[in-house]
Amino acid sequence: MPVAFVGHGNPMNAIEDTPYSRAWAEVARTLPRPRAVLCVSAHWETPGVRVHASPAPRTVHDFCGFPPALFDIGYPAPGSPELADRVRNLLHPAPVALDTSWGLDHGAWSVLRRMYPLAEIPVVQLSLDTGRDAAGHMALAAGLSALRDEGVLVLGSGNMVHNLGVMTWSEEAFDWAEEADNTLARLILARDDEAVRRFPRSSPAARLAVPTAEHFLPLLYVLGCAARDEPVRFFAEGITLGSMSMRSLIVG
Ligand code: ZN
Repeated sequence: MPVAFVGHGNPMNAIEDTPYSRAWAEVARTLPRPRAVLCVSAHWETPGVRVHASPAPRTVHDFCGFPPALFDIGYPAPGSPELADRVRNLLHPAPVALDTSWGLDHGAWSVLRRMYPLAEIPVVQLSLDTGRDAAGHMALAAGLSALRDEGVLVLGSGNMVHNLGVMTWSEEAFDWAEEADNTLARLILARDDEAVRRFPRSSPAARLAVPTAEHFLPLLYVLGCAARDEPVRFFAEGITLGSMSMRSLIVG
């Protein structure tokens, strides 16, 4: 099973027909049908690693200020306590807590309702441990690679360039956002994973592009569970809101 990173951007992509939401739907048709999805979303950060283990995860509307239509969306995909348990075993000896308090946040469902609109494929979320550095996240990701042979799609959902503090309602990208997006594209294609991992502090543009880690880290999970010689393909790209890269990729 390939692995995928999706730049999810504005939650409205969940209900609006955009080049991005169309690309998500199209890419799902090119992938083998997964037995389940393990999603690492920017929007679930916890102290320590948690994996959601409910058989019927709720749809979490983790945003405010959006139209009621977005709050009306439910994504009733089943969970998979079995997959949650498998993840916990694979990541051993790292402690992983089985969680029933979360569900599917918009990093997961805004993308998955486009990829798999029937919501029939089980989805499990893995949290981002706030106590772990980038190398620690990549080490965890390596432990997840066995899932690919078991028909599980590992899906990272974030934005590799993401600065909400300076976003604009213009479609014109900031120069530093373009620069950071181009640099990351080059490093990813070269599979220079160490340089990708170190990228957020590598230049003034990078520091503006990745002011906080959470939207960047899901990319490290996707690279971290793929071998260095696997092909990389970008299936969406573009910068929205001036400061948000929608670049999305498949590895494998
Ligand atoms: Zn987000």
